[in-house]
Amino acid sequence: MERQLQIAIDGPAGAGKSTIAKMIADKLDLLYLDTGAMYRACAYYLKQNNALDDEKKMDELLEQMELNFDESGKQIFLNGENVSAVIRTPEISELTSKVSSNAKVRKILVHKQQQIAGSRGVIMDGRDIGTVVLPEAQVKIFLTASLESRAQRRLLDLAQKGIKSDLATVMEDLAKRDKQDSTREHSPLKQADDAVVIDTSEMSIDDVIKNILLIIENKGLFSRNN
Ligand code: C5P
Repeated sequence: MERQLQIAIDGPAGAGKSTIAKMIADKLDLLYLDTGAMYRACAYYLKQNNALDDEKKMDELLEQMELNFDESGKQIFLNGENVSAVIRTPEISELTSKVSSNAKVRKILVHKQQQIAGSRGVIMDGRDIGTVVLPEAQVKIFLTASLESRAQRRLLDLAQKGIKSDLATVMEDLAKRDKQDSTREHSPLKQADDAVVIDTSEMSIDDVIKNILLIIENKGLFSRNN
């Protein structure tokens, strides 16, 4: 059987991973999986149930946790409840970075991500996709950008959601999260040896997408005439 296409997009917060991944998923008819949303929903769940400092309770809750996406992959449901908006606050971003260093949380979510990938062509974005979740992915991209340009974009995202902040605060939050994500013991944010690095600081979304499509095309995995 022909191997399904797997594309791994990793990189720090605010590099544009999810925007780019969603658009490529639409273009190539791939399943899109936002793994960050899964870590966020998990952190939100543990916080809502006061289980952050209670290992036993945390174990029980993790057993009961059901995470599902709608067909577009843009809405996430936690035990049936749509939590897509509430998991995007700065507080949950910060908390998620802490919760995602927990080895049990990672084991459960990585397993689920690999199950979802199953036998369908997929594009996933996260921190450990090329290194841990889909080590055999045919295409691995490491998207990055300067701290300032990532913060500018994140500020715009937050403003669109009606959340007020300022550049200095967002820069500080991102830097803190990057540090936590890259220095944790389990599956830290790391570029896979075979990943192509794209610095998006000075690039438009269209240019980034063209670049990635070219990489896929050059590997003979898709043709624009398809
Ligand atoms: O991608 P996003 O910013 O939504 O991810 C939120 C947090 O989830 C990250 O800061 C990181 O701590 C965690 N995460 C992770 N592994 C992934 C995806 C996200 O640890 N594959």
